[in-house]
Amino acid sequence: MFSVFRKIKQGTEIQISRNVISQEYHGLQHSDLSAGSLRVIEILQKAGFQAYLVGGGIRDLLLEKHPKDFDVATNARPNEIQSLFRKARIIGRRFQIVHVRMGPEIIEVTTFRGSSENSHHRQANESGMLVRDNVFGSVEDDAIRRDFTMNALYYDPTTHEVLDFVGGYDDLEDNIIRVIGDPETRYREDPVRMLRAVRFVGKLGMSLADETKEPIKRLASLLRDVSSSRLFDEVLKLLQAGNGYNTFPHLLQFELLRSMFPQAHTIFQANNDSSDHRLILKALQNTDFRLSEGKTVTPAFLYAAMHWPQVQLRWLELEREGNERSNSLAIAASETLEFNQQFVAIPKRFSTTIREIWDLQIKLEKRHGRRPDSTLEHPRFRAGYDFLLLRESAGEIPVGLGQWWTEYQIADETERRELITSVQGEEHGAMPKRRPRKRAGPKPNVY
Ligand code: ATP
Ligand code: MG
Repeated sequence: MFSVFRKIKQGTEIQISRNVISQEYHGLQHSDLSAGSLRVIEILQKAGFQAYLVGGGIRDLLLEKHPKDFDVATNARPNEIQSLFRKARIIGRRFQIVHVRMGPEIIEVTTFRGSSENSHHRQANESGMLVRDNVFGSVEDDAIRRDFTMNALYYDPTTHEVLDFVGGYDDLEDNIIRVIGDPETRYREDPVRMLRAVRFVGKLGMSLADETKEPIKRLASLLRDVSSSRLFDEVLKLLQAGNGYNTFPHLLQFELLRSMFPQAHTIFQANNDSSDHRLILKALQNTDFRLSEGKTVTPAFLYAAMHWPQVQLRWLELEREGNERSNSLAIAASETLEFNQQFVAIPKRFSTTIREIWDLQIKLEKRHGRRPDSTLEHPRFRAGYDFLLLRESAGEIPVGLGQWWTEYQIADETERRELITSVQGEEHGAMPKRRPRKRAGPKPNVY
């Protein structure tokens, strides 16, 4: 290993070193890398460009974890990249990237980003957030534009060397997540970096460097400036990618939940172990468990749980005002979804399912005649039933109805008729109405 130091200006002074970590030290093997990304790099390098593997793939391999994907960074421009590959597509919102198809893989190839501060290609709004970001640069420039030091390691498959310009290799070895440059400036440029910091704590079990941690709570409300659709994507990565249960307490601790799920934030602020707390935590646990078993998960289930306390509160209010029970639920569902859309977008395909899961909570109560059979045929029966079990295990409603449905599903026709007879007359008492609860905190300005 050797280092050459130089300093450059970028708002604040950032120290750029150049550490070269050889294979005998880092130990990365090509058999662990994706064949497609190696081929993309080979083609770019043969055409005379610099090209490296970078980002989460290299980070995860160095941590001996299974990488999700490998990204390629190069000094070739998007149109130059495209011309080298038969199946390549330029995509990109804030910054153009190229998707190259290599056999079954799609490799994301990005041109090195630049850092020239005064360029008209790079614009920030009043709170410092970058709204336009189209400057190309050198590999060093590219490194300091990345978020955390551990995410700015470049692997050259030809020399087998890892290049480190920002001390990321040492930080990885020390289990430290550190923002590159001045944390406050970098969070202001892109508040999603605060979510990413917390996500990596939950996912990788690493710690935030003090200066990386300090501004987060202070700046958490900047997330309100991030588009609700981008937040939807980020929430999936935070809570639907296998580590939601570990990540959630950090979202609370740094008050990052407030800008995304204000009602859930209020519930957890109250800090009393309520059934609402337990419902959300159990939903996160279920999701992580299903993913660890290789099963599928739908975001609808988690959103149904996150917003359920708010739905219930409003549902009860509407019923008290004299509205019919299922109408009240439908109105409460619409209002809750509409209110929360302004924070984290919920695409239509999921909001329909969320409503169905909630609606099934009433359908599952009805156990006379042919009703159970038609409920069983409902395309979302499984999610609705799982949600009912979740409510029971959280202590929101008494245990019983869930077990009845568990038995009903596996029963033959005669047993089903017996099960129905056994609960005759109980129907409307199956789900006792909740007593009015003491409100956990100030009611958000919802309706
Ligand atoms: P994961 O394993 O979850 O995919 P990742 O670090 O690879 O984690 P990506 O979203 O795939 O995350 O991003 C790839 C790389 O792009 C990151 O490693 C980082 O270098 C850079 N990057 C991503 N998002 C940002 C951001 N908001 N600001 C600066 N750099 C970013
Ligand atoms: Mg990645």
